Amino acid sequence: MEIERLIPVRIREVPADSPVAWAKGMQVSLPRSTLEKAGLIDDLDANDNLTIPAEIPPINPRDVQDLRSRAAYTRRQPVSSRLPVSYQMVPARLRSLIALVMGRWKRRRPERWATFPRWPLDLSVDFLSDLCGSEPSPFRSGPTPVLLSHDLDSPEGLKNVVRKFLELEEKVGARSSSYIVPCGWPIDYGLLDELKDRGHEVGIHGYDHANRTAFCDPDQQRERLEGASELIQRYDIIGYRSPSLLRTPSLLKSLREFYRYDTSIPTSGGLFPVPNNGCSSARPFQIEGIVEIPISLPRDGSLKALGYSPDESLQFWIRCGEAISRSGGVVVLLTHCEARFSGNAPALDAYRHFLEHVSGSNRYLWSTPGEVLERAFEKTRVNRAS
Ligand SMILES: [Zn+2]
Repeated sequence: MEIERLIPVRIREVPADSPVAWAKGMQVSLPRSTLEKAGLIDDLDANDNLTIPAEIPPINPRDVQDLRSRAAYTRRQPVSSRLPVSYQMVPARLRSLIALVMGRWKRRRPERWATFPRWPLDLSVDFLSDLCGSEPSPFRSGPTPVLLSHDLDSPEGLKNVVRKFLELEEKVGARSSSYIVPCGWPIDYGLLDELKDRGHEVGIHGYDHANRTAFCDPDQQRERLEGASELIQRYDIIGYRSPSLLRTPSLLKSLREFYRYDTSIPTSGGLFPVPNNGCSSARPFQIEGIVEIPISLPRDGSLKALGYSPDESLQFWIRCGEAISRSGGVVVLLTHCEARFSGNAPALDAYRHFLEHVSGSNRYLWSTPGEVLERAFEKTRVNRAS
């Protein structure tokens, strides 16, 4: 089946009381057929600026779901997960160098690798959802939840999160979630216990980070997911993040037996793990029977690979965070604690500035994945009751 082309439009005018007033000035991408069915094609000018009329014509909620799942999966298996040996045998520094060279080269051509969702933030799905009169986001009123998360890919990552990151977070009253590889390297349980005892959360990050769980057959997939069972019990784990953010329908379906939520789909994935990937939404949603909490801010690894400095990354986080907050989304930041990512002095300094920025604004509220799920579901329960 041919996939319909999307039309990038800029929202020029919106009535002040419109549910999409937050999107004024933003660029979104919408299927031509949706614009046509809703009669909005006539509200586009020659430069694809869209004026939203006072009366919003009916739009099928199915169009919202289709747009959300359009680039949500990484259906193609990346080379890294097809190698006869784990790609992690390639030294991390060499992998970083390859990524950096590729990223610098690609930075100038975002129209190729971020057509949809657009980089660094694309809220097309949330725009379309509000436009078609769906239930308003439970995060539209009240402060925007901010979730801090780390992927612990190595013993160094675990050491650094406890020694360098937690204190910064605790200083501003935040608690983070750290997704750990369960079967890749010997885990220092003393450090993980300390992290949990200090009020932070533990989540699971795949099996051995060989990038295979999302693509292997059901039996193998199950075996790999069961590899985390002991950790799940010991640390009351409720969430999963897939290594390299690789996700398939079969993986998400299998996760629901083990977890309450998944957080492996970026809002705007950019270049990695595959170009043009993401769900184009910053709101939690149901997919394959599990709740997905999208990673809504640009991640440290992507920013670094594109050659952005820690200070530039900070500006991305602040700017995107504000747009997400206005739209009724959830701010989710992913940083890696290894020194080659965010566990170095300049990157930690940018991270601290971001923490202080969030703390100093009454727009935001430090939150945990469990609290986000509760706020999303409480609203559903109230609505059902009324
Ligand atoms: Zn990882």
